[in-house]
Amino acid sequence: DHSCASFASVSGADLSVPLVDGSSCTYVNFDYAASAPALAAVTERIAELLPFYSSVHRGAGYTSRVCTAAYEKARVTVSDFVGAQSDSVVIFTRNTTDSLNLLAGCVPGDTVVLDIEHHANLLPWNDRRVVVAAESIAETLVRLEVELSTKPAALLAITGASNVTGEVLPIAELAALAHRYGARILVDGAQLVPHRRIDIGDLGVDYLAFSGHKLYAPHGAGVLVGRRDWLDAAEPYLAGGGAVRSVGLDRTEWAPVPARHEAGTPNVLGVVALAAACEALAQHEAGGSADHERVLSDRLRDGLSSIGGVQLLTVWNDAPESVGIVTFSVDGYGPGEVAAYLSAEHGIGVRDGKFCAHPLLARLGHPDGAVRASLGLGSSGADVDRLIDAVGELVAQGPSWTYEEENGWWNP
Ligand code: PMP
Repeated sequence: DHSCASFASVSGADLSVPLVDGSSCTYVNFDYAASAPALAAVTERIAELLPFYSSVHRGAGYTSRVCTAAYEKARVTVSDFVGAQSDSVVIFTRNTTDSLNLLAGCVPGDTVVLDIEHHANLLPWNDRRVVVAAESIAETLVRLEVELSTKPAALLAITGASNVTGEVLPIAELAALAHRYGARILVDGAQLVPHRRIDIGDLGVDYLAFSGHKLYAPHGAGVLVGRRDWLDAAEPYLAGGGAVRSVGLDRTEWAPVPARHEAGTPNVLGVVALAAACEALAQHEAGGSADHERVLSDRLRDGLSSIGGVQLLTVWNDAPESVGIVTFSVDGYGPGEVAAYLSAEHGIGVRDGKFCAHPLLARLGHPDGAVRASLGLGSSGADVDRLIDAVGELVAQGPSWTYEEENGWWNP
């Protein structure tokens, strides 16, 4: 029964957390979109590699050879996972932000973006042209077409799924649009890759960025995958060891990609764990994880929107689908108060704030932020019901609930 059971075991699933009245309860995680807990397959892979902990690409000892092989195998796994073609390369970074900054240094021209983007897909682009999203995706595509056809751009940089509303964009259509006007397309996959299989070859995507920590793997490892030519033509992202072919005191010959943009000792465990997450996710997806998530998200959206005074945030009126992200506001309460109430009284972890998307929150009429509940493979129907009931309880109390941040309970 998809609506009741969680789909996969994740770390911290049975964590007990303190409540403000001195009791405790099992933690309910609704913050997968920020960082997702590790899958069992991921922690197992880390445990397997730990005894071999050593440098990569440098040592001749057995452990270094094991680590180097694991690191390079991870590159192949990730490449296969996203359907990269032979003219593409996987570069390991720290996270999505790092990947986008890296690519921003390689783009030979203007980048077109929408105003709904996460700051990571807004701020790095030097020659940025911002298109204001319309009320429908269809009309937004028209606006993008006008922008791309009026003045040439090198890149269309667009999110695969909004980190605020979960709405999914039509990637193949956007890729075709960019290509029609001689631009390439980058997809910020931070929120899409954990939820949906993306085959960049099939979709016609030139560049894809995502983060391991949102993919049920540890913090500190990310991916930029995409076409080699711009990446090979650019200066290295970081100058240093590993990025060179040869160095004289007065001249440097840089290595081609991926080494060119991976100077310094890489995050071997993070990368290998990220690849393990890709393999596990592919299996879960084949087993119907997207359906599981759809059932739970629909239940959450329906439940929250049936509570008076609760508003759900969306950008478009025609989004064909959404990932498991539901952002809302509660009349009479600030987002921080709602989030504190859910944690203090019910052991439910959500995120409140502006989600690194200040322009979007402002245009949606929530300049002071909102509350985001995001679910994942460890979420269950019981979790969803607990959240709906808790929000309903808060609303039923009226504006009488207050909390003291200083009472010591708040800080673990
Ligand atoms: N893009 C989107 C859509 C995101 O949700 C996030 C993370 N909140 C990022 C980019 C940045 O990811 P990271 O913090 O891992 O660099």
